[in-house]
Amino acid sequence: MNKVIPLQSFYETVNKYLPDDSAMPAVFIGHGSPMNAIADNAFTQSLSKLASHILKPKAILVVSAHWLTRGTFVSATVKPRTIYDFGGFPEELYHIKYPAPGSPDFAELIKNELSSIHAQADSDMGFDHGTWSVLRHMYPQADIPTFQLSIDYTKPAEWHYSIARQLSALRNKGLLIVGSGNIVHNLSMIKWDENSSKAYDWAIEFDERVKELLMSNNNDMLIHYPKLGKAASLAVPTNDHYLPMMYINGVRQNKDALTFTYEGIDMGSISMRCFVYSPV
Ligand code: ZN
Repeated sequence: MNKVIPLQSFYETVNKYLPDDSAMPAVFIGHGSPMNAIADNAFTQSLSKLASHILKPKAILVVSAHWLTRGTFVSATVKPRTIYDFGGFPEELYHIKYPAPGSPDFAELIKNELSSIHAQADSDMGFDHGTWSVLRHMYPQADIPTFQLSIDYTKPAEWHYSIARQLSALRNKGLLIVGSGNIVHNLSMIKWDENSSKAYDWAIEFDERVKELLMSNNNDMLIHYPKLGKAASLAVPTNDHYLPMMYINGVRQNKDALTFTYEGIDMGSISMRCFVYSPV
């Protein structure tokens, strides 16, 4: 079982002034639409509130649903560019820049930790929108070195969970690890009409089931989610947005408590559930 701390108590007790060697939290963010980058809503406010309550990280590693590769790559770019990896959105979105520096030093550390799978450095990768649409709310000053780890789409969920286990101790070096995806993510069934955007039953069912599995720390079932049946196949038609959660569960440490920092279903078929593991 995971110790679960309700959101209000989390904000009352979380300690911004931890000693240097204690673990940074690990965070899963359901990022949803790119439009959230420029929105001011309950979800984006939850992001800034979360960041303002935790110790300022030395660096941020993001595992985003939008960097899928064959093989595993770590971005080691010195000045990462902002990538607009979406189409058909308002012009305003294409002018946003997230000018945080990269973190070649931490990238090297990660590459070494993952030498068994031959992780490689990528000195060209910028920030995809899974990263910047979230971080511009969490850290609007863009002053924390930030880099990404790619998701090898040829590998199963279990593999992703096990390589994340190898990164867990880096949380004790001031590294904030962020998984950016969505637990329920079915683009083909999105309801675009705001007036009739009630969540599908299967979306609610799967999101709730994952919540319970997180609370009971049942990684086996989270890894083998297709066993959860019809709701799972509708909620996770492709696993790109689900896999970032595997990384956050993988870097969980024994002292961590679990807090859900946001929940809700957008546009019928996108779960916005966010959670944090934080030592207590
Ligand atoms: Zn996405």
